[in-house]
Amino acid sequence: MPAPLDHRSLYRLPWNLADNPIAWLEPTKACNLACDGCYRENVKEHKSLDQVQADLDVFARLRNFDGVSIAGGDPLMYPELPTIVRRVTAMGRKAIINTNGLALTRELLVELKAAGLMGLTFHVDSRQGRPGWRDKTEVQMNELRSTYADLVASVGGLACAFNSTVHGDTLHEVPELVDWAGRNVGKVHTMVFILFRAAALEQFDYFASGKKVDVGSLVYGEQKKERLDLNAREVVDVIRERHPDFSPCGYLNGTAQADSFKWLLAMRVASAHKTYGWVGPKFLEMTQSAYHLWTGRYMSYAAPSALSVGRSVLLGAWPLDRGVRTAAASWAASLARRPLDALRKLHLQSILVIQPIDLLEDGTDNMCDGCPDMTVNDGKLVWSCRLEEPRAFGQFVTAVPRHPEASNGHKRLDVVQP
Ligand code: SF4
Repeated sequence: MPAPLDHRSLYRLPWNLADNPIAWLEPTKACNLACDGCYRENVKEHKSLDQVQADLDVFARLRNFDGVSIAGGDPLMYPELPTIVRRVTAMGRKAIINTNGLALTRELLVELKAAGLMGLTFHVDSRQGRPGWRDKTEVQMNELRSTYADLVASVGGLACAFNSTVHGDTLHEVPELVDWAGRNVGKVHTMVFILFRAAALEQFDYFASGKKVDVGSLVYGEQKKERLDLNAREVVDVIRERHPDFSPCGYLNGTAQADSFKWLLAMRVASAHKTYGWVGPKFLEMTQSAYHLWTGRYMSYAAPSALSVGRSVLLGAWPLDRGVRTAAASWAASLARRPLDALRKLHLQSILVIQPIDLLEDGTDNMCDGCPDMTVNDGKLVWSCRLEEPRAFGQFVTAVPRHPEASNGHKRLDVVQP
């Protein structure tokens, strides 16, 4: 069995509030789906282009960023999306669209690419109530993922990522999605697993400005009987049951728990037929540091062309990184058996696990330290996963345990809603 993950042996991504690869822009609240686990109230309300520009100006003033995740709502609902993409590109930043894909057509994709789009992140999972895809398993949803991956690949030159929300009863399907991503390594550049969260209503009272507030009225206050405490280590364990060599290389810790993995990143070196290995912390450190030295920014998304240089990575970085060395040895052994494998392209592909807010027993919130997905509210940078709180109550809420004996220490809350 592989050793349990120790955060001190991984590369701590150097991202922080002011210098971070990503800015999270929300031009609209409107969406054409209602996914379980969504953080945003779904109302037909778009920002004006002037308001969008004002948000971009706030990012430009407060944050050194590499790419803009254009989210929502679903940004494809926004009538002037190509204009936003053009503005982000004109700032010298990478425009990435985060969408459920439902409103995507080939014509729109071509138009967005012409406007400067760098890539797309599709949110596809089994709890979205998609027309024609209800009651499917997570594995069955791979068929739809493949449709979007093929569409993006057919246009060419665009980065393609997939988000999938993980629930307690879909955790066991994660390895199958990791394998699907591996089989599509030339088309799918990143696979993201986001652990389901909702506000725990039974154990805490919530306060804003000293007054008790009803977070049950927020979109993430709605509760079903469901685990709220899934963590990234469990995801690693379930992947390792099938792939014992699976090795994350970098992370963001929590604001209250140094050893919690809020963003946990692994990167494979693979052809569409075989994964040769997983790069190690030194490789990630080299790429982030070199990119920052070169551009003055930390890297968000890499162009597909930069991710299809797996062979150069193996040949160039093996002396410096143990993970790359292992992958290079596996590749060399494979070539000895099947020399024609030398003709297959090798790619890099990221597997990312995001463990959003953890509420600790004493009510402390353990957020992502160096949150990449900060958005703008009222001229300030705020966590996008909790934006509904300042909107509804004027500030982020404070959780207070209903049982005072829970208020000592920072033990993690294991919440199973009744
Ligand atoms: S703190 Fe919230 S918004 Fe920021 S990265 Fe974590 S989950 Fe996303």
